[in-house]
Amino acid sequence: MEQLDVALRLIPFTVLVSLSVVQVIVYLFWNSANSTYLAALEAAILPLTIVVLQQCWLWRSRPKPREVTVSFIRRAVLVAYAYGCLLASIPIMLFAGANPDGRLLIAASCAGLIATGMSAAVLPRVAISFSSLIIAGSFFGLATTGERFYTYVAILLAFYAAFICFTILHFSRLLKMRVIAQIDLERQQEFTNLLLNEFEENASDWLWETNAELRLQHVSPRLAEVARSSERQLHGLPLEQLLLPAVAPPAGHPSTVLWNCIAERRTFRNLILPLNIAGEQRTWELSGKPTFTNGVSFSGYRGVGSDVTEKRRSEERLSYLALHDPLTDLPNRVQFQQLLEAAREQLEAGERFAVLALDLDEFKSVNDTFGHAAGDGLLRAVAERLRRFASPDVQLARLAGDEFAVLAIGSAARDRHAIALLASDIVAAIASPFTISGIRVSVGVSIGIAIAPQDGCVEIMRRADLALYRTKGEGRNGYRFYEAEMDERIEARRALSTELRGALERNEFLLYFQPIVTREGRIRGFEALVRWMHPKRGFVSPAEFIPLAEETGVIIPLGEWILQQACATAAGWPNGISVAVNLSPIQFRHSDLPLLVSSALQESGLAASRLELEVTESVFLEATPAIKTALAKLRDLGVRLSLDDFGTGYSSLSYLRRLAFDKIKIDQCFVRDLPHEQSGAAIVRAIIDLATSLKMTVVAEGVDTEAQRRFLLSLGCHELQGYLFSRPVPAEEAHALANQKGLRRETIHAA
Ligand code: C2E
Ligand code: MG
Ligand code: MG
Repeated sequence: MEQLDVALRLIPFTVLVSLSVVQVIVYLFWNSANSTYLAALEAAILPLTIVVLQQCWLWRSRPKPREVTVSFIRRAVLVAYAYGCLLASIPIMLFAGANPDGRLLIAASCAGLIATGMSAAVLPRVAISFSSLIIAGSFFGLATTGERFYTYVAILLAFYAAFICFTILHFSRLLKMRVIAQIDLERQQEFTNLLLNEFEENASDWLWETNAELRLQHVSPRLAEVARSSERQLHGLPLEQLLLPAVAPPAGHPSTVLWNCIAERRTFRNLILPLNIAGEQRTWELSGKPTFTNGVSFSGYRGVGSDVTEKRRSEERLSYLALHDPLTDLPNRVQFQQLLEAAREQLEAGERFAVLALDLDEFKSVNDTFGHAAGDGLLRAVAERLRRFASPDVQLARLAGDEFAVLAIGSAARDRHAIALLASDIVAAIASPFTISGIRVSVGVSIGIAIAPQDGCVEIMRRADLALYRTKGEGRNGYRFYEAEMDERIEARRALSTELRGALERNEFLLYFQPIVTREGRIRGFEALVRWMHPKRGFVSPAEFIPLAEETGVIIPLGEWILQQACATAAGWPNGISVAVNLSPIQFRHSDLPLLVSSALQESGLAASRLELEVTESVFLEATPAIKTALAKLRDLGVRLSLDDFGTGYSSLSYLRRLAFDKIKIDQCFVRDLPHEQSGAAIVRAIIDLATSLKMTVVAEGVDTEAQRRFLLSLGCHELQGYLFSRPVPAEEAHALANQKGLRRETIHAA
C-alpha cells in the first residue's frame, strides 16, 4: 500500500511529461505521411492520460483501501504497457524517416522518457514494463535505419537500458526497505503510545517532559490533575514554577539537589520534593533524565513523577507509632533506648546522665476497681503531669503499663542533688489526687535512679529498675539511688533460688510447730512452719525463701509435702489438738488444692475437723470464680479456714461477709506495741469485736510478753500464739507438748 501510494504521487507527472512529449512530436512531425499515425497516437494517449490522472486523483482524495488487490496492480501494469507501447511506437514509426534534427529530437525524447520510468521504481513491474518497451522501440527504430553509426548508438542505449533497469530495481528495493522500516516504526510508536496511555490512566505516576528551555511539553492529564491545573496552562510553563518548593530550601534540601542536577544536566532518581500545590503541602517523587539531540545538544528533560503525599503521610504515621506510645503520646521503649544510646555516645565528651525508672503505686487496684477506661485516663493524666518536667535535658517515655522512664542529661544530671530534686518533684507532682471522669483517685510513684557512667552504661536501665524495686520494698512513693549492694542481693537471691530447686529432693526441709493456746493456756493446736536447713548457710528464714519458692514454682511440690507432713504429724497427737497449715496464693492458682487436702487427710487418717488452713488476704486480690470454688470445696471437706495476718493487706471487710472464715489471726505488727500503743489497741479491739459478732474465733499472733497476754485477754481475744508460750519447735517436741495438758512456766523459759 505504501509503495503504491509513493508511486501514485509521481505517476501524474510522468504521464503529463509523456503527453507533452507526444504533443511536441505531433506538432513537429505532422505531415501527410505521418498524419494517420500521429492522429491515432494522439487519440490513444489523450483518453489514457485522462483516465490515469482521474484514477490518481481518486486515490488521493478517497480514504485508502485496507489492502491492494492483485487486479489493481495488474491494471497498473497494463496501463504501463499501454503507455510503453504508445511511446515505443514513436521511434519505430518516425526515426528511420526523420531528418538528422528529427532523429536527434526523437533520440533525446526517448532517452528522457526511458528515464521517467524511474518515477514508478517503487512498483518495479510497472516501471520496467514502461521503460523496457520504450527501450525496445528505440532499438527497433535504430535498427530500421540500417546505418552503422546507429549500431554504436544502440550499444550505448543497451548500457543505458541496463543501468536504468538496475537503478529501478535498486530504488525499488531501497524504497521497500524504507517503507517497511517506516511501518515498523509507526507500529512501535503506536504500541508505545498505547503503553503510555495505559500507564497514565492506571498508575499514580505520570510522565513529564521539557524542552531545552526547561519548559513543560506534552503535559499529560494526570500531571495536570496532580498539579491542580489544566494541560493548557501547564504547557510551556517553566519547570521551576511548577516545582516551587513549599519553603525556601536550605542547602542539601532535595529541591537544591534537583536544581544542581538539572544545571549539570545530570540524571536524578526518586528525589522527594516537598511542594506547595494550590496552597497545600504535597510531596512529589521525581526522576528525570536529560535528552540530547544527536547525542550532543541538550534538548530538555524527560522523566516520571508521582504524588507520594499519602504514602509519605502513612509512612510518617507508622514511624511515629513505632516510636511512640499511642495512649499517652510519649516516646515508647524503642525510642527511649535510642535516646539512651545517644546519651551514651555523649558520655565520651565527659557528660553524665541519669535514668529514673518510674512505677505507679497501686495502679493495679485503680484498674481493678474502676475499670480499664479509668486506668487509661489515669495513665494519660500522669503523663500530662510528667510532661511539665520535659525539657531538652529531661526526656520522658512510657515503657509499659504503669512504667515510665525519665532520662536526665546536661544540667538536669549536673549532680546527685539536681537528680534527687527532679525525682522528689516528680513524686510530689504525682502525689496530689487526680480526677478521672469525676472520680477522685490517688496514686503514688516509686522511682529508682541510676547514674552513668558511675553505675555503668549498658546496665543502667536494669540498675534503675533494681533501685525501683528497693523503693517499692521500702514502702513505695519515693525514690532511691542505685547501690552496688542491690546487685549483690539480687545475685544472692539468684543463687538461693537455684539451690532451692533441689532442696526438697535433698530433704533439706523440716516442719516446726508452734502452739496456739486458749485463754486458759491450754494447747488448742499447732501452726506448722516450714524450715530450710541449708547445708552451707544453715537456717534460712521462710520469710526469705517462701517468696522465692513462689516465684520459681517450687512452692507447688513444697506445699504438697508440707501438707502431708503436717497431717501425718498431727495424726499422732491427742484427739482435740489441731494443726494449722499455711497456704500460698500460688497453690490456689496452680494445683488442685481440694484434692491435695483430701488425699493428705486420707493418707494420714487425720479428721478433717482437726485441719486448719491459713490463707492471707492476698488470695482475694484475684478472687476469681476458680479460687472461690476451691475455698468452698475445702469448707465442704470439713476443714476450717483462717484468715492470716489480718489487717496488713487489703483488709476488705466484705471478704469476711462473703467468705465464711472460722478464724481471724491478728497480725503481730498490731500486737507488738501493746498495751501502750493507742491506735494499735483500738484496731485490735475493733477486730476482736467484729470477729466475735461474726461468730469467728480471734487469734493474736506474736504474743511476746505477759503484759500483751493480759491486755489481749481483757479485750476478749479467744486464742494466743507467740514466743511467750513457745517458739516453733521440732515435731518430737511438739508431740511431747501436745501430750501435756498445759504449758508450764518452765516450758516457756526453755523456749
Ligand atoms: P505466719 O504464718 O504469720 O507465721 C507466723 C510467724 O510468726 C512465724 O515466723 C513464727 O515463727 C513467728 N512468730 C510466732 N510467735 C512470734 C513472736 O512471739 N514474736 C515474733 N517476733 N515472731 C513470732 P516464720 O516461721 O519465720 O514464718 C514466717 C512466715 O513464713 C509465715 O508467717 C508464713 O507466712 C510463711 N511460712 C512459714 N511456713 C510456711 C509454710 O509452711 N507454708 C507457707 N506457705 N508459708 C509459710
Ligand atoms: Mg500463718
Ligand atoms: Mg501470720
